[in-house]
Amino acid sequence: MNRKDVDRNKISPMMKQYLDIKDKYPDTLIFYRLGDFYEMFFEDAVIGNRELGLTLTGRNAGLEERVPMCGVPHHAYVSYLDKLVEKGYKVAICEQMQDPKTTKGMVDRDIVQVVTKGTRLDSDLDEKDNNYLGSVYDFDYCYVLTFSDITTGYLYSMIIDHDKEKLVKEITKRNIKELIVSDKTDREIVQELREFYDILITIIDDLYEEDNYEGLYKNLNDIRLVTGVKHLLSYIINTKKGDLSHIQPSEVITSDKYLIFDVHTKRNLELIETIRNKDRMYSLLWLLDKTKTAMGSRLLKYNIENPLTDKEELNRRYDTIEKFLNEFILKEDLVRALDNVYDLERLLSRVSYGNLNARDLIQLKNSIRVFPTIHDILDELKYNKNIEVLNELYELLEKSINEDAPVTLKEGSLIKEGYSSELDELKSIRSNSKDFILKFEQEERERTGIKNLKVGYNKVFGYYIEISKSNIPLVKDEWKYDRKQTLVNCERFITPILKEKENIILGAEEKIIDLEYKLFMNIRDEVKKYTSILQNNSKIIAEIDMMTALTTVAEENSYIRPNITDERDIIIKNGRHPVVEKVIKDNYVSNDVIMRDDVNILLITGPNMAGKSTYMRQLAITVIMAQIGSFVPAKECSIPIFDRIFTRIGASDDLVSGDSTFMIEMKEANTAISEATQNSLILFDELGRGTATYDGMSLAQAILEYIHDNIGAKTLFSTHYHELTVLANDLPKLRNVHVSANLEDGKINFLHKVKNGAVDKSYGIHVASLAKLPKSLIERADEILDMYENKSKKEQTFTQTSLFLDFDEDKEKSSKIEEKLKNINPLEITPIEALNILYELKRDLDDKK
Ligand code: ADP
Ligand code: MG
Repeated sequence: MNRKDVDRNKISPMMKQYLDIKDKYPDTLIFYRLGDFYEMFFEDAVIGNRELGLTLTGRNAGLEERVPMCGVPHHAYVSYLDKLVEKGYKVAICEQMQDPKTTKGMVDRDIVQVVTKGTRLDSDLDEKDNNYLGSVYDFDYCYVLTFSDITTGYLYSMIIDHDKEKLVKEITKRNIKELIVSDKTDREIVQELREFYDILITIIDDLYEEDNYEGLYKNLNDIRLVTGVKHLLSYIINTKKGDLSHIQPSEVITSDKYLIFDVHTKRNLELIETIRNKDRMYSLLWLLDKTKTAMGSRLLKYNIENPLTDKEELNRRYDTIEKFLNEFILKEDLVRALDNVYDLERLLSRVSYGNLNARDLIQLKNSIRVFPTIHDILDELKYNKNIEVLNELYELLEKSINEDAPVTLKEGSLIKEGYSSELDELKSIRSNSKDFILKFEQEERERTGIKNLKVGYNKVFGYYIEISKSNIPLVKDEWKYDRKQTLVNCERFITPILKEKENIILGAEEKIIDLEYKLFMNIRDEVKKYTSILQNNSKIIAEIDMMTALTTVAEENSYIRPNITDERDIIIKNGRHPVVEKVIKDNYVSNDVIMRDDVNILLITGPNMAGKSTYMRQLAITVIMAQIGSFVPAKECSIPIFDRIFTRIGASDDLVSGDSTFMIEMKEANTAISEATQNSLILFDELGRGTATYDGMSLAQAILEYIHDNIGAKTLFSTHYHELTVLANDLPKLRNVHVSANLEDGKINFLHKVKNGAVDKSYGIHVASLAKLPKSLIERADEILDMYENKSKKEQTFTQTSLFLDFDEDKEKSSKIEEKLKNINPLEITPIEALNILYELKRDLDDKK
């Protein structure tokens, strides 16, 4: 039975209340509180049945048919709710707003909060990751993207060109889980984000116009950015419905502040997770994350995804690492102190929103306890910032909150003795009465002579006297025992004095719980006053946590301080890939990357498995590490600040968008070509592989020429088209390098060493033999190869002319000269030999004439 088909004139009042509420939240599942359960009705119930495996039942609601229903117990609803939210549903909690015990008729109910992917505040979230909710506002000529992690209170704004791809890139790169978009926004974008990136999207235009959150956008002097914040706020406030005063003023992200790359590059370089297993292990983040706090870990991740371009700040960070390395004892003390700091940011969101428990406050207290230590160390290190020591707040929490308080706030046991005399008095009344009862039991046994007389307690009858069946005949009327319950083995009685004490105990109990709750809330309000100081402390702690982690990594792996130059020269000596190095340990072969002003493009050749891709990634990762302020894996490193990194690495990692590999290659090449500047870094790994040889080769060449002539970005370009190496003749800023390999007894031996010049042999078949293909097959492949090589020698000149060189018609001659040149290694011949060769070449040329 569907909600829409229901005759609302016939339906029961409660179900009418339900439908009225559901009308206001049509796209949201309603958890409707009914006694001890949250119930779902109609279509929601069907979803509950399907997604959670709940039993589908029905409820009479005055209609002919019963209304489909299923429910979850109220004390255990959270896990069910999380599961639905995880699957992309929005779930609204509808509570009873009045106490059913004291209300005549039907209780009022209302939605107290809506939980969605982007607005979760529960503690199940990954503490090492941010959970972003975003808003897109379409201004015709630009987009404004505003996003926030409401669990930590960070808020960001940015303006993006009115370009669909750029917008999608920003959103996906930042791993935003949920978006609200203004109605104007192109539905194609909405669909792409929903379908390919699994982002939960709501289309609304509302702006939050009240001024109680003005502080979040007061600093923004662009009305478009302000609108973005108001747009996002409208949704947050509508779903959370609680105090969100921990959200911090918006920080504007401008593209010149950060080294920019897109989600593909992030993936290709395995910054956050590996391509193959989508695992954090063996990613750059995994390598660098030696942080001790959740805040530090999130900050590090943010930095890896958003490296800086500010030279001064980077040098400040290198200085910090240097200082930590020199003062390693202080640094170790600092790390030890940080180990005691809990996730203050998320704690503060619970303080303001109100879903805080006593254990949170104990964590806060334990964190504050180490503030003085951290403060003093930073002072001693002359660090440029310091945290505020909060002794008063510490004292308050120390004397008030019980160390082993329960998670719920309605059971008492929250507050320590000595904090409130009123509470202590109630507690002593309670315990006196409990003592009385113990004594009473003792005295009754003696008075009655019934040795196994017991005083017990249960919720229905309160305190009672229990006497076993065999002793019942001994009970005398004059004792005034009042029989209440008969069980198989015993009977239970009450007496007036027992009732009187029971009233006192239960009365005190109730008062204690109420009072403890009230005291707890007062303490929470007190803590709330420290929100901005604590947030500021958190930021500093996150920063030093990240910096000590980077120091530890630098120390353990012998990284060095990079030198940021204002020139465009890249000089890296003995560079390593920090993650590959971790895996293969001492076997890693370090390599130089030298690209001075006279070189913009390195064309890298070499057999499969030689290490081309690794060499390229190594440079990009070194750049990223340097631009987050880390030391780098090399013996010497001098690099400029890069504005962007573009990559095309690997072939088949893009199943998601449905484009062919070749299409993706070309799209990514296009992005690089249209957006790169001469301050960018471009990595093209075997570009053009996805199409027929000549197509691919021609495109590769054209792209290289274009980058060379029009962009001038530093570019690493690996290729298996050896024909491309002749480009060095035409393009003065292109250099050939190759990754060397040896052939010994027909077996290939990888040296992984990058050397100058081109390699002209493909070792594909040898690699295949390494993969243990059958011997006969390998031999046959060798035969075929010989055939092709002979054939292609005849064709070679044609290929070269048509593709690359405007040589004159006499191909024979030029190739002969070329052949000779190719066999020369200028580094290995004496000046005399060189002169002789020069004569020879000249003679060859003259012969032709
Ligand atoms: P290519 O791109 O040339 O096919 P890769 O870069 O994928 O080669 O490297 C293949 C393998 O060689 C890597 O998995 C790695 O184990 C090893 N390797 C690469 N570079 C090095 C190096 N510099 N030192 C040691 N081993 C390396
Ligand atoms: Mg490769």
